[in-house]
Amino acid sequence: MRKQIAAANWKMNLSYQQAENLLDEILNTEIILAPHQQVLFAVPFPYLIMANSEVADEEGYFIAAQNCYEKKSGAFTGEISAEMIKSVGVNYVIIGHSERREYFKETTKTLAAKLDACLENNLIAILCCGEALAIRERGTQNNFVQQQLEESLFHLSATEVQHIIIAYEPIWAIGTGKTASTGQAQEMHQHIRSVLSNKYGREIAGKISILYGGSIKADNAKEIFLCPDVDGGLVGGASLIATDFIQIIKALKA
Ligand code: PEP
Repeated sequence: MRKQIAAANWKMNLSYQQAENLLDEILNTEIILAPHQQVLFAVPFPYLIMANSEVADEEGYFIAAQNCYEKKSGAFTGEISAEMIKSVGVNYVIIGHSERREYFKETTKTLAAKLDACLENNLIAILCCGEALAIRERGTQNNFVQQQLEESLFHLSATEVQHIIIAYEPIWAIGTGKTASTGQAQEMHQHIRSVLSNKYGREIAGKISILYGGSIKADNAKEIFLCPDVDGGLVGGASLIATDFIQIIKALKA
């Protein structure tokens, strides 16, 4: 079975103390993860080392960075390379979140370079994709998401692409309280899988986890995660509340 993943995206939230407390509260709750289930916490850069040591002895729990820069090193004040993330023992990173695309003008070309940097450093990237409301209203979301994938992902080999997780996050559903219906989520996830299948073959496409993101809450996670092509979720707001995120972890496909 494909990996089923509950990924918390803390964004730019929580003090160091609050972050420690939140992790402690979740990790001290007994949650039995099946071998195919994983929990990721994408934490702010300064918390990576602390968070990684918190999950070190926890089977199935991992830490992720929320971004990385595509260059190896040099005069890029304020940036963090994939190699730096790897060097503190972190193995996952979110790439191309819609907030980065919008506020920091990240293009599909930049994201292709970021994926290369991740692969060179054995980091597993969670590549986000997803359309804005206007695109959904025009009904062109399938072509739009396909193009995002073609431009950022399709230069990778069949071996490389298996080190990528995809997160479909319709922008109109992020932080808005509006979740995609199960029909909308399944339809897009199936489309993404068929796009991957056309490029890399059915077998490889069948192994890639595709997460849904956009206002997942404790009370809607289960029905979304039950969609056959949805392999868990990337969760913003609800991942900041221990009891909610615990419910979301428990909603992963068994
Ligand atoms: C996100 O930021 O990736 C996200 C899905 O946020 P929220 O769950 O708050 O909509």
